[in-house]
Amino acid sequence: MENQPTNAITDDLACPNCSGPLRFEPSKNKLVCEYCQTEVAIEGSKITIQEIDYDQYINHVFEQEEEVTVTVVDCQTCGAETTFPPNVSAMNCPFCSSSLVLQNATQRKLMQPKGLLPFSIEQKKALAMFQQWLGTLWFAPNDLLNYARQEGKLAGVYIPYWTYDSQTQSHYTGMRGINYVTYEQQTVRDANGNTRTQTVPVTKIRWYPVSGNVRLAFDDILVVASTTLPNEYVYAIEPFDLPELAPFNPKYLSGFRAESYQKNVKEGLGDAKLRMDTFIRQAVNRDIGGDHQQIITLTTDHYNITFKHILLPIWISAFRYNNKVYRFLINGRTGKVSGERPYSVIKIALAVILGLLILGALIYFFEIRNNSQYYFRVQ
Ligand SMILES: [Zn+2]
Ligand SMILES: [Zn+2]
Repeated sequence: MENQPTNAITDDLACPNCSGPLRFEPSKNKLVCEYCQTEVAIEGSKITIQEIDYDQYINHVFEQEEEVTVTVVDCQTCGAETTFPPNVSAMNCPFCSSSLVLQNATQRKLMQPKGLLPFSIEQKKALAMFQQWLGTLWFAPNDLLNYARQEGKLAGVYIPYWTYDSQTQSHYTGMRGINYVTYEQQTVRDANGNTRTQTVPVTKIRWYPVSGNVRLAFDDILVVASTTLPNEYVYAIEPFDLPELAPFNPKYLSGFRAESYQKNVKEGLGDAKLRMDTFIRQAVNRDIGGDHQQIITLTTDHYNITFKHILLPIWISAFRYNNKVYRFLINGRTGKVSGERPYSVIKIALAVILGLLILGALIYFFEIRNNSQYYFRVQ
């Protein structure tokens, strides 16, 4: 596998029956020949996926990590770096749909992924789930609905991630707030306009200074190593069933695209610590207790950090509308959809006009009703 560009048909991806190209078929979890439909199982591997010690890695034990050379093509528009399928001469970027110049392909040495989750939802099913999701959106442009009806508009891309484990110890100082009730005199005005004073209960907070330590253990905190996709949409299609990770095998990539990581392990750790911080703050608040909590200082030390590089399956749709690209992501394991969505200005305008018409009709109706009541009373 070393030094083999992923865009060539390798021997083990040739059909044993007709030598045609074998493609990974998510619905079967097998390789299937494009020409004669012969099915070939991917031999299971009993290797357990090892985490890598972060400190050792940072202190240059690089040699221990297997590298893989991939042929990638850079998108001039959005900067994505993706591998491409064998025997293609023209291709669009899965992230922004602009056309890619395959002559610009370059070789890159990357850390080989430890594991991956194979696609289990095939394109047809992903498309159906995408359409269903779009059906729940208000004011989606018709162009988008038509676009989503076309087959082949989804690209299956293995997206690079880092996962981190860490043990944390945090020291905090803060305030614990306890509710108490006092009674206050208030002046109230009754229906007849007379004022009187009455005693009412008022809840107040008494604050006490607190400090303490919180220890947590984190397992498989996911950080997307791609900078092409907006983080919020990538995180919105979680969770992934990480316990099902398969040891890396390039056969799963056959027929799919893979993006190379742009964020390195160190940068990824920064993101992971931010994600962990959210949980740490929740734990600190629980530790502070009381009715209200304030965190004033918080310092966290991380111990025994380990990481691994994995690939996760995402169906991506890049829809161009009014010169802007809207991306939709579909979890290749669960079908969960997220995306930035365009709004149809025309549909919103029509809805506003319809709303005004209804309002106008209601006002008209009430006026007639009021007038008729008045008329009735006069009689
Ligand atoms: Zn075949
Ligand atoms: Zn692009």
